[in-house]
Amino acid sequence: MIYPIVKYGDPVLEKQGETVQEFDTPELHKLIEDMFESMYAHKGVGLAAPQIGISRRIAVIDISVGQDPAQKLVLINPEVTQHEGKLVTEEGCLSVPGFREPVRRGAKVTVRAQDIRGQTIEVIGEELLARALQHETDHLNGKLYLSHLSALKRDLIRRRIRKLEKSGEWK
Ligand SMILES: [Zn+2]
Repeated sequence: MIYPIVKYGDPVLEKQGETVQEFDTPELHKLIEDMFESMYAHKGVGLAAPQIGISRRIAVIDISVGQDPAQKLVLINPEVTQHEGKLVTEEGCLSVPGFREPVRRGAKVTVRAQDIRGQTIEVIGEELLARALQHETDHLNGKLYLSHLSALKRDLIRRRIRKLEKSGEWK
């Protein structure tokens, strides 16, 4: 099932996701399958559950965008445990369509998470994967990439989105 993407302005995106306690359930398997399907349908490299209106600490990532099944990552209750270096690259978000901005992130990060069975996993990522890991973990903490921009830039984007909302072009 392909979920519609929740857009900036919806409070679910700025709320801490609930920690997942039950693993390996048919419901969780189905949700993760739907999250991959929704992410591919919307051409994203990552998707966090709050982006489909579900406030739980679950994210999926595939930086190959469906080209390489070995790149599929499921992160449940993830936390960034280490970061090294800094890298500024352009970043966008399915929940903030039409905007892309340079964001300063850790160049290499380690994330500790649980897999679909509740086993602890550690993922180390560089470049695009590092960025996706940080971006998706942020989502589960109720944080959008906009929060990494300068106040000036953020306000500018907010104003442009408010205009789009008024003219009915947002949502
Ligand atoms: Zn995003």
